Amino acid sequence: MQTARTVAQARALFGASPRPLGFVPTMGALHAGHLELVRRARQTCAAVAVSIFVNPLQFGPNEDLAAYPRDESGDRRKLADAGVDTLFVPDAAEMYHPDFTSYVDIGPLGEILEGAVRPHHFRGVATVMAKLLNIVRPDALFLGQKDAQQAAILRKMIFDLNVPVELETVPTVRERDGLAMSSRNGYLDAQRRAQAPTLYRALLATRDALSGGASKPDAIAAGAAVLSPAARLDYLEVVDATTFAPLEPPRSPALIVGAARFGSTRLIDNVAWE
Ligand code: AMP
Repeated sequence: MQTARTVAQARALFGASPRPLGFVPTMGALHAGHLELVRRARQTCAAVAVSIFVNPLQFGPNEDLAAYPRDESGDRRKLADAGVDTLFVPDAAEMYHPDFTSYVDIGPLGEILEGAVRPHHFRGVATVMAKLLNIVRPDALFLGQKDAQQAAILRKMIFDLNVPVELETVPTVRERDGLAMSSRNGYLDAQRRAQAPTLYRALLATRDALSGGASKPDAIAAGAAVLSPAARLDYLEVVDATTFAPLEPPRSPALIVGAARFGSTRLIDNVAWE
């Protein structure tokens, strides 16, 4: 596995890459969910690139940028074992040089749900992805369904800005108890870890209630009742899978999306209602 740490090195390596080139952007602290994206990329691409970059632009002032887990040597081993061809580890000082002033503004989709709780988060995500796509120039981009609003926003950015890349979203990989795999799960102590799967169960309970004909408020109340009382719900909503517009009255197909805090750890998840 080759490694690029500067934009110039990345351009040289990716410019000479076999095609199609698949790209899996990550923030590191890799788990089986990330490796599933790599596996999918390998199925259809002649070469696979992964980036590890904890993007400061997408973290708010009171968020976990400094504490975010970092394990480059462990990640390198996992990626090499998974058959990744090239690892790109950009340097924050090069990505955001002192005169950096250009941002991708995604519009209303970036301001609801996750965007309402995390102002500027999606501007940071869209901006770094525009940069990464311009540096790596992949043929195919692999994103996880776990971050469904992020995937919807990047799909829109790719369409709106005519970015020449195919986007594939990959189903969420879960622990045996249903908890969506996340680098942030490592923050959970044993007690919070035991509570955390109730977020997924709350989404399923909401979906069951909707399928049974419940109104949206009743379905959301049924879901919220399943969430651990120790957790704090940020939102639980039924949204259109493309626009993320809240649906009232609800109808399938739709996405049921949720976010909750278990102690200081904030987790998100979603399920499809088909
Ligand atoms: P992150 O490192 O959290 O920025 O995630 C990098 C990519 O991995 C994103 O496209 C995520 O949606 C995806 N991802 C994270 N967790 C999972 C999971 N449990 N299953 C599938 N994809 C995931």
